[in-house]
Amino acid sequence: MNSLRRIDIKYVKGVGPKRAELLETQLGIRTAYDLVHHFPTHYIDRSSVYRIKDFDGDMPAVQVRGRFVTFNTVGEGAKMRLVGLFSDGTKAMDVVWFKGVATLKRNLLTDTEYVLFGKPTVFNGRWQMTHPEIENPGSALAASGIRGIYPLTETLRTRNIGSRQFQLWNQALLESHAGLRETLPPSVLRSLGLLPLDTAIRAIHCPPDNATLQAARLRLKFEELFYIQVDMLRRNRKRKGASVGHPMPRVGDAFNTFYAKCLPFELTGAQKRVVKEIRADLVSGRQMNRLVQGDVGSGKTLVAVMAMLIAVDNGMQACLMAPTEILATQHYETISAMLAPAGVSVRLLKGSTRASERKEIHDGLRDGSLKIIVGTHALIEDDVQFRNLGMAVIDEQHRFGVAQRARLWAKNTIGPHVLVMTATPIPRTLAMTVYGDLDVSVIDEPPPGRKPIATMLRYEPQRLQVYKATYAQLRAGRQVYIVYPLIDENEKLDLRSLNEGYDIVRDTFREFKVAFVHGRMKPAEKDHQMELFASGEARILVATTVIEVGVNVPNASVMIIENAERFGLSQLHQLRGRVGRGADQSYCILMSRHNIASDTRKRLELMTQTTDGFVIAEADMQMRGPGDIEGTMQSGTPFELHLTNLATDGAIVQMARDAAQVLLDSDPELTQADNAPFRRELEACIKRTADWSRIS
Ligand code: ADP
Ligand code: MG
Repeated sequence: MNSLRRIDIKYVKGVGPKRAELLETQLGIRTAYDLVHHFPTHYIDRSSVYRIKDFDGDMPAVQVRGRFVTFNTVGEGAKMRLVGLFSDGTKAMDVVWFKGVATLKRNLLTDTEYVLFGKPTVFNGRWQMTHPEIENPGSALAASGIRGIYPLTETLRTRNIGSRQFQLWNQALLESHAGLRETLPPSVLRSLGLLPLDTAIRAIHCPPDNATLQAARLRLKFEELFYIQVDMLRRNRKRKGASVGHPMPRVGDAFNTFYAKCLPFELTGAQKRVVKEIRADLVSGRQMNRLVQGDVGSGKTLVAVMAMLIAVDNGMQACLMAPTEILATQHYETISAMLAPAGVSVRLLKGSTRASERKEIHDGLRDGSLKIIVGTHALIEDDVQFRNLGMAVIDEQHRFGVAQRARLWAKNTIGPHVLVMTATPIPRTLAMTVYGDLDVSVIDEPPPGRKPIATMLRYEPQRLQVYKATYAQLRAGRQVYIVYPLIDENEKLDLRSLNEGYDIVRDTFREFKVAFVHGRMKPAEKDHQMELFASGEARILVATTVIEVGVNVPNASVMIIENAERFGLSQLHQLRGRVGRGADQSYCILMSRHNIASDTRKRLELMTQTTDGFVIAEADMQMRGPGDIEGTMQSGTPFELHLTNLATDGAIVQMARDAAQVLLDSDPELTQADNAPFRRELEACIKRTADWSRIS
């Protein structure tokens, strides 16, 4: 494989400098290696030829066989296009080209059989295809059974670079490179019965039959995942073997007083279990790196507080870092109120903290008199120095970059124990891939007495009823969130609808004070408005998704989400988690346009059927792919997934994990001669990742 990395794409037969440039800018393909790793996303079987009369709805790209009846050029100059009338005997459609008109007109014939491949669309009431791929049914490729469809861009398509072109390039390249060198360890290949690399790469581009294609895809998906798992396990083992952590054997005054006197309620079983898991880490003598997953409202804060108190009992300091000032403030208030009777000092440090106070805090952290600090990114600024930071809790980790975590770590020679808390439920296969180097705890039980939030999907004509029900809740003393999408905070239109919404809400609920926050406000104003709502003075909060993470107002019982069709499942779930925090019945109302796509409707209906964050996360992944979470992974690890779909390939993740264990058990440093090619390949994949490896 390495040799292919050294071949510039422009020297691959049939590519040349012009197309090479396009391939690079459009798809990031620079070398022959990149080319053979640009895999088809799906395949069409030559045997299934559609009939134009059966075209229907929103179809994927399909294949039709027929003849052109006429060709016409329409328009002039740059706007000129070629329109062919194409019939397959069942019906006719238009075939339209905007580019390359002259060449196509010269080369295409009427009354000759062609096979077209493209996406049928309806234009002016007629079926049409634009820039389909065209083949002569007699050509060698057309005769082959299964053909890959490659992910392409519109620009490539209009330059007539289609899937067929990719197949031809790959064919030519692989013909001149007999025998790609195997990369996986032979023991792994043998024990799992995987196809050799050379066979797999050929088969994925030019499948001889379906069974070989499936075996090729399995082998290549396995390979992608295997690198990740080996890398993670190796680092995990290294950390467990070598990384020293502050031993924290004592559970003393701070913890015990808190447990006995300050705890306002009994811990849930899940909370107790997680605290136990943390304590086991803390006496192990190794550095803790633990992720606590727990749905919104599951009570993660309490777990964090107890972990911090153990650090204090062992003579060390603890910090809790939150992604926004609002959240940091809220944590600070909750925690300092909880800890007041235990006599533990807590301070708050954020960007807007005044200089005099900031200096006091810095001094306290440096001389060790300040035990617990809550804050924002301000905590990892260079002038913050701890005397002995023993425990770092990071709330809502996905907002913090890996590099930021690494800086926190760098504050002491022995790194603090790290506890990462996330309310984004991550399906198991993903957790294994994204957080494979962290230990995972799950809080999977809500505090007692919570009633499930009643969720309803409503459309514009029902708005009046929604307002009536809301009014009743307000009269009963409850508070209400109304959330608008402001996906891009710069979008003028969104801002206008938010402002209009605010006016309407004020007009409708005149007797109640309405707070208003969005991301473009100054932080001080934002805090002021949030405070109005948190204190109960304002009974309604009109907001954008700034409230998504973490605010806690137990008296709020209604969450209205406007344009709910524009939110993803996980985001809806996070928003809904803002209510249902008290003992009373809460409601979440999803307001939507009427004419929405069927999968959007499915998404919204799922929300009305379950409140289980893991079910929703799993469904979100099935519907949209791993999305954000995979994005997090790709920015954090050196590996990219081309073929694997984490949503559906869970079994292969497990297979890779198991095989990685076996391999590392027998050859921990990958020094055996048999494993040398694999080791070289693994290292070639690992880009510079100094920051990443430091936190693991
Ligand atoms: P999370 O951070 O996981 O979203 P919080 O820690 O903010 O959740 O807790 C949500 C609410 O539940 C808070 O009001 C908290 O006081 C309450 N809570 C936490 N644990 C318990 C418990 N064991 N019993 C009753 N209420 C609890
Ligand atoms: Mg929280």
